[in-house]
Parts: sequence; C-alpha cells; structure tokens
Amino acid sequence: MCQPEPLEDHRICVCVRKRPLNQRETVMKDLDIITIPSNNVVMVHESKQKVDLTRYLENQIFCFDHAFDATASNELVYQFTAQPLVESIFRKGMATCFAYGQTGSGKTHTMGGAFSGVDQDCSKGIYALVARDVFLLLTNPAYEKLSLKVYGTFFEIYGGKVYDLLNWKKKLQVLEDGNQHIQVVGLREQEVSCVEDVLKLVGRGNSCRTSGQTSVNAHSSRSHAVFQIILKLQGELHGKFSLVDLAGNERGADTAKANRKRQLEGAEINKSLLALKECIRALGQKKTHTPFRASKLTQVLRDSFIGPNSSTCMIATISPGMASCENTLNTLRYANRVKEL
Ligand code: ADP
Ligand code: MG
Repeated sequence: MCQPEPLEDHRICVCVRKRPLNQRETVMKDLDIITIPSNNVVMVHESKQKVDLTRYLENQIFCFDHAFDATASNELVYQFTAQPLVESIFRKGMATCFAYGQTGSGKTHTMGGAFSGVDQDCSKGIYALVARDVFLLLTNPAYEKLSLKVYGTFFEIYGGKVYDLLNWKKKLQVLEDGNQHIQVVGLREQEVSCVEDVLKLVGRGNSCRTSGQTSVNAHSSRSHAVFQIILKLQGELHGKFSLVDLAGNERGADTAKANRKRQLEGAEINKSLLALKECIRALGQKKTHTPFRASKLTQVLRDSFIGPNSSTCMIATISPGMASCENTLNTLRYANRVKEL
C-alpha cells in the first residue's frame, strides 16, 4: 500500500505521532478516529453525513516514514527521527527536527519543553535525548581528539521577532551579511559539559518562556521555540542540531474572531509554516534556490536548509479525537506535502 522511498540520500524524514485521548476528551465522549494499521500508515475515519442525513465513515489513508500510535514512548519516537541525525553534526552537519501540529497534540511533550500540564520533567524529551547522545559521541574515539566544545541556545520567535530565552527574553536582531550568512546578534550561547547542564538550560529557558503569561498554552501556541546544540572546533562552528517546537498550526478560530492582534499573529504563523514547508521541500529536491527569506523562522534556520550536510526530520503530532478531525487532516496533508518530492 505504501512504497518506502529509496534510502539513498534520504535527508528528509517525516513521521506522525498520535497521542492518547485525554481526560477532557474522554469525559466529553469524543471518539478516537485515528488508527495506525502499520508502522508507516495513518488512517483517519472521518464521520460524514449523506444528503438523507444518515452518517457514514470516510476512511483516508496517509503514508509516512514512520507512524507512532498512542503507546509510543518519546524514546521510540526519538530512535526513528532525531537520533539517526545526531552523528552528522560531528561531521560538520546541520541537523533539524521539527514538531508540527495543532495546539494540544503533543509537540512540547515530544520535544521536552516540559511546561505543559503535568509534564514538568524535561529529561525525557527529545532535547534531553539528543544531549545524551551528543555527550556519548564526544567520548567516541573517532571524535574525541577533535576536542569539540558544546553550546546550547534557546530562543523564541513570536510575531516575527526573536527573543532570547536564556537572557530574560531579550529581543534580538537578525542580520544577514553579503554572503547570506545569518546572525542572531547577541544570542546567548551557553557552554554545556554534561546532560545535566543541558537540562538546567532547558529548564531555565522553559520558565523564561512561560513567565508572565496568563495562559501557557495560549502563548506557546503562537510562538516557535528553537533549542540548539552547537558544536565548535577551536571557536568555529562545526555542527548544529536545531530542535524546533513550532507554533500551533490551527488558525481558523483565531482569524474568525475579529481581534486585530490575533489576526496579525495568525497571518505571521501561516506565513512561517508555509515558508518552512517550501524550504524543506527545496532541500529534498536539492534545489539551488531556497526561499528562506520568506519568514523569520526560515531565515534564522537558513543553515539547516542548504548545503550538502543538512538533514531534517519532522514529527507531525496529531490528536485522536473526532473534534480535532479538521486540524488533524490539515496536519497530515501538510506533512505529506513536506515529504513528497
Ligand atoms: P502542544 O505542545 O502540541 O500544544 P502538549 O505537548 O502540551 O501539546 O500536549 C498537550 C497535553 O497532552 C499535555 O498535557 C501532554 O502531557 C499530553 N500529551 C501529549 N502527547 C502525549 C503522549 N504521547 N502521551 C501522553 N500524553 C501526551
Ligand atoms: Mg506546546
């Protein structure tokens, strides 16, 4: 039913993760309309109505590199997404992992932003798992003698502006020089020497992200959070892993309400998610032109979309409930477009 794509030069991996029905959905008797019949297939059983008002299920099938059902752990998701890219940054690679999906579908739970609901522990998310393996590889004989140093950055993009989560949300300028090099001026790069250092840094960034917010989800749904692990060789950039917890992709409700600020935010998010899709596709098609200037998000991630050593994975997170059907289908269609060459 789904043909696996040839593995050679496979620099884009697109996966889907379904979360369990939550308590609220269970209480409201929302139905689980998603099945994962095999480890790369997602089926959506959409409830539809005929003209005579009788209801029927319309099944839609999507294929991905991997599909994870509600029982999958972060560790398992990690094994098939970010983990295969970690070693590339020791060989001067630029690796990127995106969590994409509607608010409440599990992006932050997956990445380890850890400020959502009961998730207070960031040590089980992909940020921490990447850090674990980076420090393991540092002691590998193949890389040990390079004496690489490890740094972390953590910032947020909100309304097209960049804020440093390791420096009290200081607003930062993004500059591009004549050689298309992009610099986030003054972005704090914190040296880290063990996993615990990284966890502390993530914790600090997370609390900075949420401080002063009346509703954590309301804010995080409208901003992209970017956590990066950077390797430096004698002070120069060697490799970089960017882990991106994207803004929620649901926009309909925002734009329907006539709140000007929300509309502008929504438009900005749409623009950045559209630009992201085009940039990843350009990477997959090995195009020489990458439209990275179309949004701040793609601009600051430019390194990730060019050049022979870039690889990307996307984890599209979906809610299982019937009430989320439209958003879920939008997420699956977007993810499908990203992987389609
Ligand atoms: P998002 O960041 O996409 O808005 P969250 O990661 O905050 O969503 O998840 C919303 C809620 O669902 C959180 O309480 C989280 O703990 C829970 N959740 C998300 N994904 C899973 C999962 N795979 N297993 C168990 N709980 C999950
Ligand atoms: Mg979140």
